[in-house]
Amino acid sequence: MTDTRKALVLFSGGQDSTTCLAWALDRFAEVETLAFDYGQRHRIELDCRNTVRAKIARQFPHWAGKLGADHLLDLSLLGQISDTALTSERAIELQANGLPNTFVPGRNLLFLTFAATLAYRRGATVLVGGMCETDFSGYPDCRDNTLKALQVALSLGLDSPMTLDTPLMFIDKAATWRLAESLGGEALVKLIVEDTHTCYLGERGELHDWGHGCGHCPACALRAKGFAAYRAGSA
Ligand code: ZN
Repeated sequence: MTDTRKALVLFSGGQDSTTCLAWALDRFAEVETLAFDYGQRHRIELDCRNTVRAKIARQFPHWAGKLGADHLLDLSLLGQISDTALTSERAIELQANGLPNTFVPGRNLLFLTFAATLAYRRGATVLVGGMCETDFSGYPDCRDNTLKALQVALSLGLDSPMTLDTPLMFIDKAATWRLAESLGGEALVKLIVEDTHTCYLGERGELHDWGHGCGHCPACALRAKGFAAYRAGSA
């Protein structure tokens, strides 16, 4: 049974958002994608998006017809109000409050509000995002209750239902790999390994069994650990 609604997926080109894209394609009648360009230090993730979209359309014909327009919104103004490792050359480190200094306060609130405005214009009533409470991030605007409150605020403010779906909210990285496998089999796992980007340092380089990346930064470490746990669990 296909959900007849149209969904807009926050799709950065990473592992999590690619899994969310597959989840949405498996579920909704029509799916569009959205990314934000805000002066990320590395454009690799944005470049990966086109490859992933093209390969999904090619390798999964039953999803290809549902995959609609792609959108890239310029939010370079975030560079004016942040001073973090994402937007400058400072090293990634944990701050006293336990959050990585890549943190841009309230970033997801901004992203989802812009996404909701675009969704309204495009006739979509569902936003899908890879926010997750389980792993390292600890970002307060990724928490389930934050997003539930925002869903109510957006739906009231737009005077139109706007559902926020977050399929990864309570699962860890190993379970995210398992979800990808359940949606698209080994072919989707392989696509995510080879064509999505996670590394904070923007390295593609060597292809590890879990994907490309430096292998040392927090994002690579988390992805590698999750992949190892996934493979161990499915062996
Ligand atoms: Zn890395």
